Amino acid sequence: MPELPEVESLAAFLRAHATGRTVARADAASFSVLKTFDPPLTSLAGQVITGVGRHGKFLDISTDQGLHLIIHLARAGWLRWREDLPSTPPKPGKSPLAFRLALDDGSGFDLTEQGTHKRLAVYLVRDPADVPGVATLGPDPLAADFTADTLAGLLSGRRMQVKGVLRDQHIIAGIGNAYSDEVLHAARMSPFKIAASMTPGEVAVLYDAIKTTLTEAVERSAGLAAADLKGEKKSGLRVHGRTGQQCPVCGDTVREVSFADSALQYCPTCQTNGKPLADRRLSRLLK
Ligand SMILES: [Zn+2]
Repeated sequence: MPELPEVESLAAFLRAHATGRTVARADAASFSVLKTFDPPLTSLAGQVITGVGRHGKFLDISTDQGLHLIIHLARAGWLRWREDLPSTPPKPGKSPLAFRLALDDGSGFDLTEQGTHKRLAVYLVRDPADVPGVATLGPDPLAADFTADTLAGLLSGRRMQVKGVLRDQHIIAGIGNAYSDEVLHAARMSPFKIAASMTPGEVAVLYDAIKTTLTEAVERSAGLAAADLKGEKKSGLRVHGRTGQQCPVCGDTVREVSFADSALQYCPTCQTNGKPLADRRLSRLLK
């Protein structure tokens, strides 16, 4: 799933390639992808793209007539830029193609989604806050005003595991399963640590890990073409998705805790004093 660094890079890529261009047409290729009906999608044609931004993991393409095309790629969605977009509009069907935006010079992009769970979402709104997922976002961790005090305030009194806090878009915007694993590894902190129990020193360490991990990921992917972002994300990760491999910091074996629909990865030596965390799925199997 694309998270803050990848969406930031996609926004920069689109800003460079699409700003100033006029929309030729926009088509939803799957029945479920478009979540809004007013204004209609056809009203985008003829509007000039004036900017591309990001809210958490949402892309925001704005036009000269005050509309915002908001895109959430969800778990299996991706954006594919094409210099020569096919001129025929896409047909709804079983293909991974979900949405197509064509520009006046023949370029544009396709949104695709693999798998059977279709969660990729597109909204056409007059105000980004009209999108419920955007309106309820927590603060952006890369914003200049996101300070260590901001983080302390978000963690304070929260009887929740820090892994869950980092992933919760209502608390902090843009961090998902992959970068929360990476942040906690950089902070040498157990994913199960209770937020409310953290000392000011631990909050400071977590704050630095959030800023450093995300900033480095954004810098690594800056200037890459949309097609190359996925590979870059994968190669830059230290523990996420690397169960059984060596921790690049200490050489211990990266371990995993599985949940119903996801898994987290961590290094016992770096993060949990060498002790493996209980894996509920595994212990249930062993009973
Ligand atoms: Zn380690």
